[in-house]
Amino acid sequence: MNLIEEKQKEKLVVAERGGKKLENIIYLDNAATTRPRKEVVEVMLPLLEEKYANPSSMYGIALENQKVLLESRKIIASTLGAEPEEIYFTAGGSESDNWALKGIAHGNREKGHHIITTEIEHHAILNSCEYLKEQGYEITYLGVDEKGRINLNELEQAIREDTILVSIMAANNEIGTIEPIREAAMIARSKKVLFHTDAVQMYGQLPMDVNHLGVDLLSASGHKFNGPRGSGFLYIRKGVKISPCIHGGGQEGGMRAGTENTAAIAGIAKAAEIAVRTMNYRIQKETYQRNYLISRILREIPYVRLNGHSKYRLPSNANFCFEGIEGESLLILLDMKGICASAGSACTTGNTDPSHVLKAIGLDEKEANASLRLTLNEETTKKELDYVIEVMKESVKSLREMSS
Ligand SMILES: *Cc1c(COP(=O)(O)O)cnc(C)c1O
Repeated sequence: MNLIEEKQKEKLVVAERGGKKLENIIYLDNAATTRPRKEVVEVMLPLLEEKYANPSSMYGIALENQKVLLESRKIIASTLGAEPEEIYFTAGGSESDNWALKGIAHGNREKGHHIITTEIEHHAILNSCEYLKEQGYEITYLGVDEKGRINLNELEQAIREDTILVSIMAANNEIGTIEPIREAAMIARSKKVLFHTDAVQMYGQLPMDVNHLGVDLLSASGHKFNGPRGSGFLYIRKGVKISPCIHGGGQEGGMRAGTENTAAIAGIAKAAEIAVRTMNYRIQKETYQRNYLISRILREIPYVRLNGHSKYRLPSNANFCFEGIEGESLLILLDMKGICASAGSACTTGNTDPSHVLKAIGLDEKEANASLRLTLNEETTKKELDYVIEVMKESVKSLREMSS
């Protein structure tokens, strides 16, 4: 009996680490979203079902909601070395990124209208920059090397008298490359320019401290570290001039109006707490499994390359380019075998434009479309990976035979 047959016969063991695992599904798309932990859902349910009061009201269950906000803000702040008043809850990573860019742009217009970012940012950053460009701001997009790292000298050269903000992601969502954020923030600070980082892929996966890093703003998203979808926060250093995200009531210090989503906020705080508590274990386990996957794929499949950096890389990320195949086709074959992965193209609205990130690291259209991303979690087992590797070997081989 080969591994594939064995896998099809057996039912996957359901990990007890929260929630139910879908039977016979191997989920390797954790950069897209993660499974909410059982403990996260457990703190959310009572706030939705029974204690649904508006935190601004004046009775028992409302005060309980106020307490949830207070405690959650404290928890998130403590995971980052920040002050609770510096944490602003949002509805996710995209909102935090939009607010950081537009809020700083609008709040500092008299200082200048130049913003620096990179070519490999998430579209929440890139499209906010495009919007600001239409409003008369000037944007400089820094390129990256073939592993996806920015060049600090280029950053230093790009800063001008009228630069108001530098925004560089902590780690890339496609290729997992980790950027030199501390060094970049130091350069910005030495020139008195504000520094924002989209930490959506790094927060909860690797240790982060806003003072050690020297960042002024930091975005994070709950559903990327086993919290609820539609939850996030923006860290804003005390004293930073930024215009409000949403005008309205006085919630979130008057900066982000709207009745607070207490359940989601309790959920993201619980997820953050567990993420920090289990971080060392997860980093070790994921790095080990990821290296196992990468080394076997590179050894056992011909004409394959690793996209991204071998050292400065998120523990959970593997991204390969398989010469001569379509990543999309491979994705379908993997799906038929119960494996969830992601291709190297941003297939929004059905078109398959090659990924801007893979383009930025020098891949041509064909190579970008021949790429596949696998992102692990702490529950990924060696047995699952053995199965995935066998399926990949067979699938890549048959796709290549078909096209030649
Ligand atoms: C997922 C992601 C976002 C968007 O976060 P949402 O909570 O889905 O809006 C932003 N930046 C990066 C790097 C991401 O991976």
